[in-house]
Amino acid sequence: MKKLVFATNNSNKRDEVARMLAGKYEVLTLADIGCTTDIVEDANTLEGNALIKAEYVWKHFQLDCFADDTGLEVTALNGAPGVITARYAGEAKDNQANMAKVLANLEDKSNRSAQFRTAVCLMENGTPTLFEGISKGQITHEKAGEEGFGYDPIFQPEGHTITFAEMSQDAKNAISHRGRAIGKLITYLTNKDS
Ligand code: IMP
Repeated sequence: MKKLVFATNNSNKRDEVARMLAGKYEVLTLADIGCTTDIVEDANTLEGNALIKAEYVWKHFQLDCFADDTGLEVTALNGAPGVITARYAGEAKDNQANMAKVLANLEDKSNRSAQFRTAVCLMENGTPTLFEGISKGQITHEKAGEEGFGYDPIFQPEGHTITFAEMSQDAKNAISHRGRAIGKLITYLTNKDS
């Protein structure tokens, strides 16, 4: 079976994609290929960071791979936190502090619309192809829910009255930015091989 590296150390993300590509590709993480480097993601766009990670794997391991990068883009904050979503309130990458900062910055704003955006970069034989997934919604006034991670407790997706953190994993995956971007990648890979 063909091997495809997901340039991540998050085995939950890998398992999700591996299920979708079962029988077609064996999906490996960075740890699986012995890549222990903390790849520096210092581009100023999500696409740039996904490309950095995918290029790193191609350059050092000559393996086909893909990488993802996600940001929360809040309209009234001119697209912030964007590319610094994980570190919005500092290098500690503290989810509670990050959410508190978004809520504080929106206190005097009436427009609470926001979107999560995921960029995925597939690297085949050294050639990159980009895919994008977007989930639009609103930033709530307070946190709700215990599921998920990151900013899920303050993000209410369009067409729903609950936050991502109040949804089951499957329900969130079906409409999430990452689910949509990875879905496009899977469609591309499936059509290419059929
Ligand atoms: P990454 O590119 O997947 O590592 O995501 C960067 C940051 O975006 C994470 O550290 C989280 O703070 C946030 N994030 C990414 N995806 C989600 C999500 O599905 N829900 C909530 N926050 C997310």
